[in-house]
Amino acid sequence: MKKVLITGAAGFLGSHLCDKFIKEGFKVIGMDNLITGDLKNIEHLFKLDTFEFYHHDVSKFVHIPGDLDYILHFASPASPIDYLKIPIQTLKVGSLGTHNLLGLAKAKGARLLIASTSEVYGDPLVHPQTEEYYGNVNTIGPRGVYDEAKRFQESMTMAYHRFHGLETRIVRIFNTYGPRMRLNDGRVIPAFIGQALRGEDLTVFGDGSQTRSFCYVDDQIEGIYSLLMSDYVEPVNIGNPYEISILDFVQEIIKLTGTQQKIIFKPLPKDDPMQRQPDITKAKTILGWEPKVDRKEGMRLTYDYFKSLSENELKKSEHKDFTSHNRK
Ligand code: UDP
Repeated sequence: MKKVLITGAAGFLGSHLCDKFIKEGFKVIGMDNLITGDLKNIEHLFKLDTFEFYHHDVSKFVHIPGDLDYILHFASPASPIDYLKIPIQTLKVGSLGTHNLLGLAKAKGARLLIASTSEVYGDPLVHPQTEEYYGNVNTIGPRGVYDEAKRFQESMTMAYHRFHGLETRIVRIFNTYGPRMRLNDGRVIPAFIGQALRGEDLTVFGDGSQTRSFCYVDDQIEGIYSLLMSDYVEPVNIGNPYEISILDFVQEIIKLTGTQQKIIFKPLPKDDPMQRQPDITKAKTILGWEPKVDRKEGMRLTYDYFKSLSENELKKSEHKDFTSHNRK
C-alpha cells in the first residue's frame, strides 16, 4: 500500500485531498497544527485503519517513521484575512516548513508536490496568467508574506530538484471554493454567503470591477492528483478560467440565496489584484485536465453546505472588516 503525507490535512483543500487519497487506496498520514484547520473536516477519517493524524507544526522538524511515497505540502494560511492576522507563521510554513518537507522527501526518496498559488503573479500585468509570467508582487505589502513565501517555496523546490534530483511537482492554485471552506476566513464566497444567511448587507470591496475565476474543489483536487502522477516538473496552473467581476458575482449570490439585503461598498484592500484568470493550456495539454463543474452547480453545492451548518457556527462567523488596517 502506497503511503502519502498530507500537510494542512484539516484545512479546506488538505481535507479533500485526504478523502481523495483514501479513495484511491493509499495509506494517508494527515498533519496539521490546527491554527486555521479544523478537525471537523477529517473527523470521518479517524475510524479508518488507513488514516493517521499527527498534530504537528511543519515549521519544526518533521519525523515520519517508515516508508513514504508521496508528500503534499498544503499547510499554510491561505486567505488574506488569515495571513494578515498571522504573518510570521505564514512566512515560516512556506519557507521553513517547505525546507523540512524537502529534507524529509530526500531522506525517504518520496515525491513532493507543493501547493503554490496564483498570488505568485501578484497584481498581474499579463492576462490571462500563463506559467511563464514572472509576476508583479509588492514584497513589503500585507500580502507579501504569503506571496513571497510561496515564491521562495517554488525556488527552494526547484533547487532540490536540480541539485538533489528530488522528484518534485508545483501546482499554482487559483481561487477555489466548495464545502469545508471556513465561514469566517474572509474570502469572498464564504463572506457573501455568510452575510446572506445572517441577514446582513453584502460587502463589495472597491467598486467590484476586479475579477476572479472560481474553481470548484472537486475539479481542483482532480487537477492536483493528475499533476502529482504526471512526469511534469515545472509549475502548472490549476483553476477555472471562467472569469467574473465581483460586482456581477454578488448579483449571482443574491439570486442564489434570495437575500433581501443590499450591497454596500467598502475600501479595496491594499494590493488586491484587479484581475485574475488562469491560462490552463498546460494543464489541458500535459495532464489532459480541465474543470467540469460549472459555477452554478458548484455554488449550489457550496450554499447547501453552508446552510447545513448550525446557527451557532453561523453566529460565530460574523464578518470581520479587515479593510480598515489594510487601506491603499
Ligand atoms: N471581496 C469582496 N467582499 C468581501 C470579501 C472579498 O468584495 O467581503 C473581494 C476581494 O477584495 C477580492 C475578491 O473579492 O477582490 C476575492 O477575494 P478573496 O479574499 O476571496 O480572494 P483573493 O483576493 O485572494 O483572490
